Amino acid sequence: PMDIFIEPIGRLINEFSKLPGVGKKTAQRYAYRIIDMPEEEARAFAAAIVNAKQKVRYCKVCGNFTENEVCDICKERDGRVICVVKEPKDVIALEKLREFRGVYHVLHGVINPMEGVGPNDIRIRELLARIGEGSVEEVILATNPDVEGDATALYIAKLIKPLGVRVTRLSRGIPVGSEIEYTDDVTLSRAFNERKEI
Ligand code: ZN
Repeated sequence: PMDIFIEPIGRLINEFSKLPGVGKKTAQRYAYRIIDMPEEEARAFAAAIVNAKQKVRYCKVCGNFTENEVCDICKERDGRVICVVKEPKDVIALEKLREFRGVYHVLHGVINPMEGVGPNDIRIRELLARIGEGSVEEVILATNPDVEGDATALYIAKLIKPLGVRVTRLSRGIPVGSEIEYTDDVTLSRAFNERKEI
């Protein structure tokens, strides 16, 4: 129970244990580490959390993280090709390849009936609106190759194919059930370049 710790430490452990993958033991270790830090370092740590929370928001066009209203990728790159991904971390994985020159669309989730996530709960409407503006030529569906990712890609493909846009899906180079985020660069690059029309 928490009350074996003095209040300020118990409180810190409680906060750390809110992080994904951090159990009680790890939270305790983190809390002790903070307490062992010089005060200045601890202040910088806390300030970085508040700073990120204040400055990071979602790009109003693509939904990726940005400090501005519209992100640099949306501002500077070729808007004729949109790569659709599940989460901001997938943008990072694809940007690391330094090959794609188009823009992104972050869905912030995938359709998952088991968890009550329907098409209206992710940013599909926003994607349709972007395509509706008329300059989009290709939409690359880069959701993870798992059940939910495939179902979401198929759902979106059915919606946008009638709009006269080329719709492609990353090739089967990525192992089924794995995540784009954890796919090695060579495999991801090949899957991207060998994408197939669906
Ligand atoms: Zn953007």
